[in-house]
Amino acid sequence: MKKLALHWQILLGMVLGVLVGLIMTQFDGGKEIVKDWVKPFGTIFINSLKLIAVPLILASLIKGVSDLKDISKLSKMGGRTIGLYLITTVIAVSIGLLLVNIIKPGNSISEETRQELVSNYSSDAEKYSDEASIQKESGPLQALVDIVPDNIFGAASENKNMLQVIFFSIFFGIGLILIPEKKSKPVKKFFDGFNEVILKMIDLIMIASPYGVFALLAALVVESPSIDLFKALAWYAFTVVLGLIIIIVFYNLLVFIFAKRKPSFFMKGISPAQLLAFSTSSSAATLPVTMERVTEHLGVEEEVSSFVLPIGATINMDGTSLYQAVAAVFIAQAFGMDLSLSVQLGIIVTATLASIGSAAVPGAGMVMLVIVLAQAGIPEAGLALIFAIDRPLDMCRTTVNVTGDAVVSMIVAKSLGKLHEPKVKD
Ligand code: ASP
Repeated sequence: MKKLALHWQILLGMVLGVLVGLIMTQFDGGKEIVKDWVKPFGTIFINSLKLIAVPLILASLIKGVSDLKDISKLSKMGGRTIGLYLITTVIAVSIGLLLVNIIKPGNSISEETRQELVSNYSSDAEKYSDEASIQKESGPLQALVDIVPDNIFGAASENKNMLQVIFFSIFFGIGLILIPEKKSKPVKKFFDGFNEVILKMIDLIMIASPYGVFALLAALVVESPSIDLFKALAWYAFTVVLGLIIIIVFYNLLVFIFAKRKPSFFMKGISPAQLLAFSTSSSAATLPVTMERVTEHLGVEEEVSSFVLPIGATINMDGTSLYQAVAAVFIAQAFGMDLSLSVQLGIIVTATLASIGSAAVPGAGMVMLVIVLAQAGIPEAGLALIFAIDRPLDMCRTTVNVTGDAVVSMIVAKSLGKLHEPKVKD
């Protein structure tokens, strides 16, 4: 029998996970069985992916930067990468604002539903706004200060410090370029080999991915709050998802125009990473797979992907920025507020910055949303409104976040003559 392609296996795992989750909610004790006996395998799967994140960034970025051989190449690639990340994010926020103003999902909320949601979720919302207020209290340059760690082992011991690890790796790579070749060669060789080992480990983890996503989704289904609340938020979710779909179409257009690759080729190549992003709600956890797909299946040279993708996973979140814009205006609408044009333009700026600042982990976009709300003068209690539906939307926006990184890596690679026929054909 022909072996099923990986993305089909993952999809099958997801569907079965949802089905099993739904069945298990039907009888007494079913939920507990899933929580005790199925969920741990999902957690093990995510942990094993996260485990790879820091060593992967270290190995691949140091290798990537030192492969560039001279500093001017690095600044060229860096400039294009950051420029494209910013442009795509601003476009995403604008699409979100446009849609939420046309569809006006917040107007469909009845007073009664609003009260119910606010009272059900206000304690969770408080937790999020507490976390965000710590971020808000810091000065305007704090984000810059946070990039430079004072201890590399300290930085590498926390997955949320990914930007610090990236900083160290690039810095180390630059040092490596600048010393005489005789001295740098053994160090480079070590990191080349190290990198290979990590990539092999990712391959091995991916073999288990269909089972991992099965466990994750089964657990998610049994732990969801009541379906009734979801219904009230259907319009809001529809607006976010429609926006995300538009962005995916826009990405395919970009790939077609600037990288000269067909949408079917791109979507097929990136789909396992998308499905994983959907199941884990974490760009960071998905990074190893994004890296593998972009390099092996989309034909981007490792020199480019190892630089563009880790940075993208942490700072480029088009899905998150679109979601933040829609959510902010939705909450304002639900509270009966009318937002002026200048406030909405302000949302473009804060949502762009907030998405850059969001960590690549589940729920991070929601934490940073508080900052967007505060800046626009929208009541933070409104977070409670959207809490119930945040997880499924997180899954969708993470998928877009990861896709956006892949798109930019292809365009940057093409512009530098580093996009080729892929090694592996799907
Ligand atoms: N979960 C998203 C990510 O990892 C961030 C967010 O919460 O929007 O990309």
